[in-house]
Amino acid sequence: MTRGVDLAVQGAEKRDAGRGIARLSNATMQTLGVLSGDTIVIEGERETVAKVWPGGEDGAVKVDAGTRQNASVKIGDTVTVREEDVDDADSVMVSLPNTPEVTNADLADYVKRRLLQRPIQIGDSVSLSDTGVEARVESTSPETVVRVVDETRVTVQTGSRKLKSSQGSSGGQRRRGSGSSSGSPSSSSDVEEQLGGATSRPTADGPKTDVTYEDIGGLDEELELIREMVELPLSEPDLFRRLGVDPPRGVLLHGPPGTGKTLIAKAVANEVSANFFTISGPEVVSKYKGDSEEKIREKFAEARQNSPAILFIDEIDSIAGERDDDADMENRVVAQLLTELDGMSGREEVIVIGATNRVDSIDPALRRGGRFDREIEIGVPNEEGRREILDVHTLGMPLDDDVDLDRLAERTHGFVGADIRTLSTEAAMSALRRYRHERDEDPDTPLTVTRADFEAAMAA
Ligand code: ADP
Repeated sequence: MTRGVDLAVQGAEKRDAGRGIARLSNATMQTLGVLSGDTIVIEGERETVAKVWPGGEDGAVKVDAGTRQNASVKIGDTVTVREEDVDDADSVMVSLPNTPEVTNADLADYVKRRLLQRPIQIGDSVSLSDTGVEARVESTSPETVVRVVDETRVTVQTGSRKLKSSQGSSGGQRRRGSGSSSGSPSSSSDVEEQLGGATSRPTADGPKTDVTYEDIGGLDEELELIREMVELPLSEPDLFRRLGVDPPRGVLLHGPPGTGKTLIAKAVANEVSANFFTISGPEVVSKYKGDSEEKIREKFAEARQNSPAILFIDEIDSIAGERDDDADMENRVVAQLLTELDGMSGREEVIVIGATNRVDSIDPALRRGGRFDREIEIGVPNEEGRREILDVHTLGMPLDDDVDLDRLAERTHGFVGADIRTLSTEAAMSALRRYRHERDEDPDTPLTVTRADFEAAMAA
């Protein structure tokens, strides 16, 4: 066995999300003595395993959010990577911690298909769909790094129930993320429904978010700019102090609704392990009428007390629309916001991300004087962006071979991310309706989302 190599952690590309692979450069693969498809151990604060794939950079390893979580590392951390032998598993038991008790007998088969050929070890969590449903590996036989194969017996625990997979009959293996993957023949609608194959996971406004960079289609350059502004001040505030400059305090994102401004803010918060707080502009000025200033003050205080934190101010234009001489209340609210922004020393590890659809209607005072250090436009995606967003939103779907995502990207000119998400969900709903109907005649009918489903969704 070769010695381990220290590598810097980078995020995976979207097409790799959820696949449990690690991209390495050819040189690194040579040093480690591994080939594509081999298994490596990634040692961060914890240890996890992944399958090697080419296409990384020298000195770095690209892994997705799930693998980073299993290794307990963030982007930019250093991990030690070494080759590892992997055994075929006789049996594997996983639990679905955040899933209500599922009684469907196909569940174990479904889980097995998602795990097939993936190296896993006890303690790993493996994402099963883009809804955040995770399977935790409780036990394996043998108790080494193992790979689930056709012969493996997979047991799934939900609630108090144990469900067993069938052995040696996994015709339905499919890969995630590739444009036209084949359907998974026996996946039952109940399983998909209960695991939420088509719907998106809720994005609750809590202190922590679970959105990752891989959930964002396109916007690579914009994301890079934002990360530059946010990650260093939150993760290494000392660097700025040593340089004698104030770290950046805020970023203003502007662009049409549904382009991913909120999504980016949440993903950045998650990736730097910052707490996430939201001020909704319209809510502050209407719901808390009279108490608007107080509400703003409170939110800033809350973020400061829970730093490192990102404070997201959605539709900031509704708070800080150009001041009207008559509107006394509005003036006071804007003044309060300016006071809070100016009062931030940059030492508190709080970054404000403002978002607006109408950058021109924002009070100029807010755009002056270093209140927001940078303004970044989040525009309507082009064809390539739409293709990536389609990938993100169809990742957990059993797509039929006849679905051509390239062609869909071409045909959805003018769609923003939110539109593409709706389109994907509608297509999945169409598939479900069709399936429930066809299943009565033929119980073996596959549940797949077809080209016709997307056509129906486009026409809706
Ligand atoms: P905004 O804040 O710009 O109005 P959101 O970030 O709230 O838009 O987007 C709404 C939803 O649309 C997101 O939760 C996501 O499902 C989808 N979406 C928007 N942009 C993208 C994108 N670039 N990639 C993937 N999904 C997106």
